[in-house]
Amino acid sequence: MNICVIGTGYVGLVAGTGLSDFGMNVTCIDKDENKIAALKRGEVPIYELGLRELIERNVKLERLHFSTDLEEAVDRCLVIFLALGTPEMSDGSVDMRDTFEVVERIARCMKEYKIIAVKSTVPVGTAREIRRLIKDNLSEPVEFDVVSNPEFLRQGAAVEDFMRPNRVILGSDSARALAIMHDIYRPLYLLETPVINTTNETAELIKYAANTMLAMKISYINEIANLCDKAGADVFQVARALGMDNRIGPKFLHPGPGFGGSCFPKDVKGLLKMSENLGYDFKIARAILEVNSFQRDLVLSKAKAMLGGSFQDKVVCLLGLAFKPNTDDIRESPALHVASRLLGEKVRVQVYDPAAMDNTRRVLPDIAYFSNAYDAAGGADLIIIMTEWNEFRDLSFSRLKDKMRSLNIFDTRNLYNPATIKEKGFRYLATGRN
Ligand code: NAD
Repeated sequence: MNICVIGTGYVGLVAGTGLSDFGMNVTCIDKDENKIAALKRGEVPIYELGLRELIERNVKLERLHFSTDLEEAVDRCLVIFLALGTPEMSDGSVDMRDTFEVVERIARCMKEYKIIAVKSTVPVGTAREIRRLIKDNLSEPVEFDVVSNPEFLRQGAAVEDFMRPNRVILGSDSARALAIMHDIYRPLYLLETPVINTTNETAELIKYAANTMLAMKISYINEIANLCDKAGADVFQVARALGMDNRIGPKFLHPGPGFGGSCFPKDVKGLLKMSENLGYDFKIARAILEVNSFQRDLVLSKAKAMLGGSFQDKVVCLLGLAFKPNTDDIRESPALHVASRLLGEKVRVQVYDPAAMDNTRRVLPDIAYFSNAYDAAGGADLIIIMTEWNEFRDLSFSRLKDKMRSLNIFDTRNLYNPATIKEKGFRYLATGRN
């Protein structure tokens, strides 16, 4: 089956590659000519475990292609996946311009039955709007279906998540479209992946409900951590005990500097705005955003307190820039928020991240970049661990001792046991374990 994926970003590239590995003949389309040229040269624009190998294999098998020619791909393909960005607008609503522009172009060149499968995270009602746009722009009468097929992959584990999802959601009222979509996802039947067939509206809402729930868990444990600090309790043990309750589960109960990334912040705002448009005040979504913003700022006030109440003439080392480990993505990363605020306070900021330094350099050229944690800690008054990369879990504290000006460590991610680090002669602050 010929399929194309329009938008070769994080989701489009992983999904397109994964679908080609399922045996489909896939063309990944993007308007960014440089990105497509790089992919054709064998360069992979994002850092994801296993992705490079999977691309190489499927390109070699001639099942995976890259192109900027949208019209040609639409002409050839039965199923057209949309994986365009849906960023937030200044009022928190979802920017659908790329998606709707592409839909109009698709409609204008459709000559036979097509399925438009929406992978992007889009507000409830989008499938309906896409159907209307296609009807308005068709140059000849053609049958088509719109399937809502939200994507749940996590950055940092994107390939694994796409190839072994917890579930596949297919929103459509067309038996014909659902049969074709089931065919595409057939390799997942071997893994007994549940497939949920539902309406477009329900599928669209499922994605927002899932991301807001996960963001809520993070904000919740962050508030519990803040309370632990006041109460003299240990959030590590609270979270562990909570996680043993099957009704709660252990995931997303790690306190830290607040959530970031390209999805949670915009999707919680998107849900809030969408609810507002539907005449409902989604109070929990508002609270999640408030807690998250507070949590990011808390890193700065705690850091300042550790440095005796002033940032003047201080050198701060940030370990980790990516919004989470195993990715080079810095969108909405709490580390960048902290770095910018420190720069605003005239602090010398020294950083190291195993993957995200090139991306950060483009937006924050005024911080000092180092090629390892120890050099980044040189002359520092404080280290703040911002991202839980594995290589920060096993730092040599004797080497750090030799490098630092003052021995202060703020471990926002709770990578270490407080007692052990204190024994080594450091002042150590964790999150919810103080
Ligand atoms: P992205 O910004 O990484 O990629 C979007 C791509 O679309 C870019 O490469 C851009 O050049 C391309 N594009 C824009 N306009 C185009 C046009 N007219 N024609 C062709 N290409 C065009 O976005 P992403 O992170 O892959 O996210 C895509 C969607 O998937 C969003 O709705 C997002 O919320 C959702 N999602 C993202 C993740 C994630 O972890 N990143 C996970 C699940 C769902």
